[in-house]
Amino acid sequence: MTQTETLTPTQAPERERTDEGDHDRFAHYAKKDAIARAYVTGEPIVALCGKKWVPSRDPSRYPLCPTCKELKEAGWTIR
Ligand SMILES: [Zn+2]
Repeated sequence: MTQTETLTPTQAPERERTDEGDHDRFAHYAKKDAIARAYVTGEPIVALCGKKWVPSRDPSRYPLCPTCKELKEAGWTIR
């Protein structure tokens, strides 16, 4: 703790990301190359469940999308 702390502007606590809504809080299945491309371009990709979202760089922070999980277990793949 330092005195400068009171003078230092702090960032707002992480709020809901404005991206596309709450599905950003899930980790979705998507094609690996599409994810890699999305990291670079920042463009949304389509997940196995049909969601369009911008993948997080750290999907392990998020719970797996239940729909994606279900579909993957059912043997679905992304075309
Ligand atoms: Zn999903």
